[in-house]
Amino acid sequence: MNQIPLGRRAFIGGSLAVPLLLPHMLRAQVPFADNPFTLGLASGDPAPDGFVIWTRLAPRPREQHGGMPAAAVPVNWEVSEDDRFRTIAAKGEALARPELGHSVHVEVAGLKPGRPYWYRFDAGGERSYTGRSQTLPATGAALDRVRFASVGCQHYETGFFTAFRHMADEELDFVFHSGDYLYEYSSAFRLDEDRRPLPKVRQHLGHEPMSVDDYRLRYAEIKMDTDLQAAHAVAPWFASYDDHEVKNNWVGAIDEDPNLPEVFRLRRAAAMQAWYEHMPVRRRSFPRGDRIDITRRADWGGLLRGHFLDTRLHRTDQPCDDGFKPTCPAVIAPDATVLGDAQEKWLLAGLDDRPRWNLIAQQIMMMPLDRRRDGENTIDPVYNMDSWAGYPAARERILDHLGRRRLANTVVLTGDEHQNWVGEVNADRGRGAARAVEFVGTSITSGGDGRDVRAGNARIMSGNPNLKFTNDQRGYLLCDVTPATWKTRLRVLDRVTEPGAAIATRASFVVEHGKSAVVPA
Ligand code: FE
Ligand code: CA
Repeated sequence: MNQIPLGRRAFIGGSLAVPLLLPHMLRAQVPFADNPFTLGLASGDPAPDGFVIWTRLAPRPREQHGGMPAAAVPVNWEVSEDDRFRTIAAKGEALARPELGHSVHVEVAGLKPGRPYWYRFDAGGERSYTGRSQTLPATGAALDRVRFASVGCQHYETGFFTAFRHMADEELDFVFHSGDYLYEYSSAFRLDEDRRPLPKVRQHLGHEPMSVDDYRLRYAEIKMDTDLQAAHAVAPWFASYDDHEVKNNWVGAIDEDPNLPEVFRLRRAAAMQAWYEHMPVRRRSFPRGDRIDITRRADWGGLLRGHFLDTRLHRTDQPCDDGFKPTCPAVIAPDATVLGDAQEKWLLAGLDDRPRWNLIAQQIMMMPLDRRRDGENTIDPVYNMDSWAGYPAARERILDHLGRRRLANTVVLTGDEHQNWVGEVNADRGRGAARAVEFVGTSITSGGDGRDVRAGNARIMSGNPNLKFTNDQRGYLLCDVTPATWKTRLRVLDRVTEPGAAIATRASFVVEHGKSAVVPA
């Protein structure tokens, strides 16, 4: 494979586009040992005129470099108006570069708004299967409905990705992934919330990832999962990351464990490069050293505006030395920030009443719940310092804005907690008026099978009247947004430790437009 004479020529101009001079005969001669599309394909970051299509060539995904040579390899792509590829809307060539793990990100443009498209890739005489994506509706278009799923937290070892297989059948306009696409730690010898050993239905290769190659291997293992591939193949995703794409509970340049910031940032750079390589995101999210910009907006006509946030990279350190703790003086720090100044200003500037609904799509719980995990401590309220509860001043700035603007059109979607939580986000640290509704989505697998209600949840509900419902099974949120109502269904599985479980709606909730209140549907 080393004799592929493409490398030097392919780098001409430093552009992702393939120079037109590339001899056609070479393209057919790329001799892959096996089908290179083992990691599937994906689309994401849709706009009214296009979206990103992604793949990564890895004929031997468990081997170093995925079994690819240290050379750039051309990949043909096609986007069609029909699933039989009779009406080609766009096509071209991209380069799978070794520096990027032979991943390919094509920003397809020039498409029609508000309609589905199908796409596929060819490389080395092999063809991928067909993916489906869709463009955003035209700017300001009047829409009756948008349907999407919100997912996250998919520890590969603690369960099968059955939820993704079911999600692929839901006829979605898009998917929001709140992060924890991979976990750096193995579930071996770890305990769940009830101090029982976490299940381990399959095992990662290698130790905890530190280098780009380590993280690539982890993504490759996960992306070989065909249930996950099915979920990527049906709709465009808005990918984000949370902590485990790098390391548990990191924020900024601060490692969970004692570490030098400059050393941790090396690891973060490796993790972020690998994240970019495996997500269907635009060039604007290309890694710059150890930073990636994943903050973005998208509009579904005049009906829904999604604000997709980064709650890790720009954050100040968790107060009180992190964890589930009673409050400490650092919690009231007025300059504490979750989003950082620039992102916070950007969010507030775009949170208005022009869209019918605002979606704040992010990672960590915003509802100010207390009495969390306070089995041992029944006197002081206990908060999750890694959530917005550790940063009340930052949360109040957002809720103040919603109050001042008299907005009652905002829904927050969250991951991270590995449970479903439905409730209202009240101002004044939970004592004031509800300013938004929050749906915290459960995990795809993290935590193992779970059960309907986790021990201690009844106590948390009785101590927090803004909290309306909890559930501790695996699954995803399915949201149907119309001009009058926002309906969220909690789709859950009985188990993830065996493949093939059925999906069911555990509960449904509705938000009426103009009321920051959530009620059972
Ligand atoms: Fe998680
Ligand atoms: Ca997390």
